[in-house]
Amino acid sequence: MGVFDSMVREDGHEQVIFCRNEAAGLRAIIAIHDTTLGPALGGCRMWDYASEDEALTDVLRLARGMTYKAAAAGLNLGGGKAVIIGKRDQKSEAMFRVFGRFIESLNGRYITAEDVGTTVHDMENIFMETKYVTGVAPAHGGSGDPSPVTAFGVFRGMQASAAAAFGSESYQGKRVALQGLGNVGSHLLKHLAEDGAVLTVTDIDKERCDTLAKEYGCEVVSPEAIYDVDCDVFSPNAFGAVINDDTIKRLKCKVVCGGANNQLKTDRHGIELGEREILYAPDYVVNAGGLINVYVEMEGYVRERALRMASGIYQNTERVINISREQGIPTYEAADRFAEERIEKIGQIKRGFFGGI
Ligand code: NAD
Repeated sequence: MGVFDSMVREDGHEQVIFCRNEAAGLRAIIAIHDTTLGPALGGCRMWDYASEDEALTDVLRLARGMTYKAAAAGLNLGGGKAVIIGKRDQKSEAMFRVFGRFIESLNGRYITAEDVGTTVHDMENIFMETKYVTGVAPAHGGSGDPSPVTAFGVFRGMQASAAAAFGSESYQGKRVALQGLGNVGSHLLKHLAEDGAVLTVTDIDKERCDTLAKEYGCEVVSPEAIYDVDCDVFSPNAFGAVINDDTIKRLKCKVVCGGANNQLKTDRHGIELGEREILYAPDYVVNAGGLINVYVEMEGYVRERALRMASGIYQNTERVINISREQGIPTYEAADRFAEERIEKIGQIKRGFFGGI
């Protein structure tokens, strides 16, 4: 299959750039999916892919996901992503600087950020060669750790979901099973506890879990038992594909809403949640706070502004649930419709000549 066929098959990416520099050991792919709304923003992943095909498939899929996430969050950003093929011990200043030069050559069409396998330090090396990088250290005007903003956005999504499922956005007395107390989960725990939720938590880091549970007065269960907890809301904040054939039949909740990426193992699991009358708040809609945070960084970082924008995740979640109900489609599909509709509408307003702007 030709390159264009494979790009079209993967939902019509605009541009895919293969970057190589032998001296620095760089082999990277940048995928720009859609820039209707603005520059393509998405992290740079470094991974020891088994093949170039695997790397290409991954970057195309991830870039597309960023288009939808940014569009649903109401940001003026398109979707893109980059992957560097290699092991972490192959990293060097030269590798990230030359990668930065490739990014610079795109003149702002693609903006990179930290992702799996890359660090703030790597971003700083990229920053030496291009300004089209976010997530640099606060000392360089960066926004720092995005997880408090992500967690706040997830909490707003949980409030909107509770309003839709139970008729009240308040968590007073609502039973929540929280999976994962890392960067996002621990901040989310605080919001929920402050709102009066009755919490059952788990984490494979037992010490951390016990400390936080004691501080916030939560019940603790083993990582495997979290799916069986009788609760109103199950909140995944650890890893992806948690809604799968094994777990779905065990869930006793009415809502699934959390910060983890790619919660549904397959689309079919999203349909099945609906059939079981469990409301699924689509992950990329509710966990967009991290993306909002770097977006605000691009404009000059102000934490209050990031939080205010993340607060809008409530309305975005509400809208997605309404689309799902009006059109009789699963919420994950309604989220895609919501994002596509915005891209379509905003794309239309860019037509015509308005005196050179
Ligand atoms: P993290 O690594 O800080 O936290 C993950 C936590 O999950 C850790 O405490 C880990 O011990 C725990 N965990 C791992 N396996 C577990 C298991 N089997 N059972 C229970 N707990 C387990 O990561 P994070 O930054 O908090 O991100 C959590 C999720 O949210 C990820 O899926 C991430 O992609 C997503 N996300 C994060 C952000 C952000 O701003 N950090 C933004 C968007 C999405």
